[in-house]
Amino acid sequence: MSMSEYKLKRDACRPKVLEKYDIVGFISSGTYGRVYKARSRNKDDHREFAIKKFKPDREGDSHHYVGISQSACREIALCRELNHENIIGLEEVLLEDKAIFMVFEYAEHDFLQIIHYHLHTERKPIPEILIKSFLWQLLNGVAYLHANWVLHRDLKPANVLLTSDGIVKTGDLGLARLFNRPLQPLFNGDKVVVTIWYRAPELLFGARHYTKAIDMWAVGCIYGELLALKPIFKGEEAKMDTKKNVPFQRSQLTKIFEVLGTPTKEVWPAIDQLPDYCHLSTFPQCSNNLKHMYQMIPGVKSESGFNLFSALLEYDPAKRITAEKALAHPYFQEDPKPLANVLAQQNIEYPLRRVTQEDNDIKATKSVLGSMAKEEAINRANKKARNV
Ligand code: AMP
Repeated sequence: MSMSEYKLKRDACRPKVLEKYDIVGFISSGTYGRVYKARSRNKDDHREFAIKKFKPDREGDSHHYVGISQSACREIALCRELNHENIIGLEEVLLEDKAIFMVFEYAEHDFLQIIHYHLHTERKPIPEILIKSFLWQLLNGVAYLHANWVLHRDLKPANVLLTSDGIVKTGDLGLARLFNRPLQPLFNGDKVVVTIWYRAPELLFGARHYTKAIDMWAVGCIYGELLALKPIFKGEEAKMDTKKNVPFQRSQLTKIFEVLGTPTKEVWPAIDQLPDYCHLSTFPQCSNNLKHMYQMIPGVKSESGFNLFSALLEYDPAKRITAEKALAHPYFQEDPKPLANVLAQQNIEYPLRRVTQEDNDIKATKSVLGSMAKEEAINRANKKARNV
């Protein structure tokens, strides 16, 4: 049998996504691909899933397609090994038409959605018991990852998922390394692909490697955003120049300095070792306003809550609190104590995640379902034309 015959045969044996799952709807076009809500076609399995469809690296370049890279394989294998209550579960991985489908357990909410809801609909802060419970579980998931030497690299409110019971499930781990260069630009074409608001100061000063401390900074930023209902360091991304040089992120650092004060060798002894240290002297001298900022947030008053907040936002990565230590912080010993299923216990129901029928990409395959979806799209287009 030739190689191409073998590949055809092997592909034909693979279970097809649409044979195993019913697509309930389209969630969104995410950082790395499209996300769909799905249900198992096995009638005894009542769980819901989120299916992420990843396109091959170079779309349309199927001629050069040689399969998934070794690093991608390794990363996927690693994701499948991870198993923790506060990390989103990966049910299975399917390959079809050169696309990778990752099937995750479904989470009804995420931190970004909750923050928006409190800001625009409820117009009041997230209750302290919720913030504390969310933060503790986020730390618990991150502690598990770090204990297994997995770095998240892209922690932000949209990546921290939450079940309708209130169980935190961190998602998107390892994907930053899998599908993107470490310090990617904010825009790719006209689409936002990554935000620098959660980026640690050492990265902004040119550190070349990700560390556990970098994840912890992002946790501090997320904690602040849960409290303030808006990003605490909302800088503007400096764009890459035509020579693709990585730009110095002056605006982002300015935002950080305005809250935490301009860093010095006293607070951060190794700062002068960083590649972009030379820029530090060009910034104005700001003093630390974190306490003031914390006290201005309505309803927030815990002293130990503030201590944890500032320990996460420690300039020196060597002194920044670890996930393990943060879990044992006095803030969590104080009343109200964190709860696992806090939404269920407090009888809080947030609006469900919206799904739409707009995107039929997953169904636009060669399958029967695919042609049905296409037909439907044509019918709809026809109806529209007739109405005009
Ligand atoms: P992402 O690709 O992670 O940026 O995700 C894009 C969108 O899909 C975001 O709104 C996520 O909150 C949502 N999403 C990602 N994973 C899941 C999941 N396991 N369950 C439900 N929604 C998800």
